[in-house]
Amino acid sequence: MKYIDEYRDRTLVEKLAGQIKAISTKKINLMEVCGGHTMSIQKFGIPYLLPETVKLLSGPGCPVCVSSRQFIDHAVALSRLPGVIITTFGDLIRVPGSTSSLDKEKAAGADIRIVYSIMEAIAIAVRNPEKKVVFLGIGFETTTPTSAAGIAYADKMNLKNFYFLSSHKIMPPAMEALIDEGVKIDGYIGPGHVSTITGSGMYQGISEKFNVGVVISGFEPVDLMQAILMLVRQIETGKPKVEIQYKRVVKPGGNTKAKALMSEVFELRDDWWRGLGILPFSGQHLKKKYERFDAEKVFDVEIEKTVEPKGCICGEILKGIKTPKDCKLFAGVCTPQNPVGACMVSGEGACQAYYKYNRS
Ligand code: SF4
Repeated sequence: MKYIDEYRDRTLVEKLAGQIKAISTKKINLMEVCGGHTMSIQKFGIPYLLPETVKLLSGPGCPVCVSSRQFIDHAVALSRLPGVIITTFGDLIRVPGSTSSLDKEKAAGADIRIVYSIMEAIAIAVRNPEKKVVFLGIGFETTTPTSAAGIAYADKMNLKNFYFLSSHKIMPPAMEALIDEGVKIDGYIGPGHVSTITGSGMYQGISEKFNVGVVISGFEPVDLMQAILMLVRQIETGKPKVEIQYKRVVKPGGNTKAKALMSEVFELRDDWWRGLGILPFSGQHLKKKYERFDAEKVFDVEIEKTVEPKGCICGEILKGIKTPKDCKLFAGVCTPQNPVGACMVSGEGACQAYYKYNRS
């Protein structure tokens, strides 16, 4: 199974669908907590291959979607300061803030640049010593190590004009909070990219505490169907546990170098999640040693009062209790060209996934 086609093999997918159907007797909800999975599930029509007993829910796996409007408002406020360059991944630029967005600020003259990595942002800082360059750090453990590497590098270079605004988060607190809140989840399709860094051990506590299975999956249809089969088998035999389907990439211990780098630079703090509110120790914040890079501490800006968009049910969608089709604004007022909420902006958001692949 070396090539992509083999992971999209129709015969194999149908065989897995047959195996799931053959053993599934209990009505169960399985949730994916990775935006990449949300996209793949809709793109390949996975829900339509499953028996009625197996329902898939989309969870809080899209980093842009779970980040607060206040984070965007904060970035907007920073972009209005004289001599500041904001550097960001492309997805964030169109996310609506309370009254503006980075896109609008750029059109109004702010220096906002799309970059593909923190190293690119650092290079901009080196080339523009008279400016203050702020990088917007967003994402789960997949992107946090690169941010950590960038901060460590900026520290080594003794860069005086580079700053970091963090919205980095970790996934387990959200997985726990959903079950705590009463969302019926019988098993999690574990995130493939995040787990490449963290390994599988970080889900052990959740699996044992809530008696739920977690199967870390790849992103192709064969991967997803196999992961679902593994979860259904666990649930039917009453033996939920943590397993890795995505073995060609994910190792139980994860990437130890990346993990060491993250804990050198970041520490956990309480953080706000769309739909879930403030979750203890769920956000990654710069340690004191690196606070001179912390845009929250360095820049004293007034952030406008957060206003959530009227009619947007992104928060409920991220909890898996509603789907984009339950939103009155979906595909009419709210489209990828004219997004009302973050779930429609992001290429990993459930609303955009449904808009692209499951609109009718
Ligand atoms: S369709 Fe748009 S308005 Fe509705 S929940 Fe999704 S992002 Fe929000």
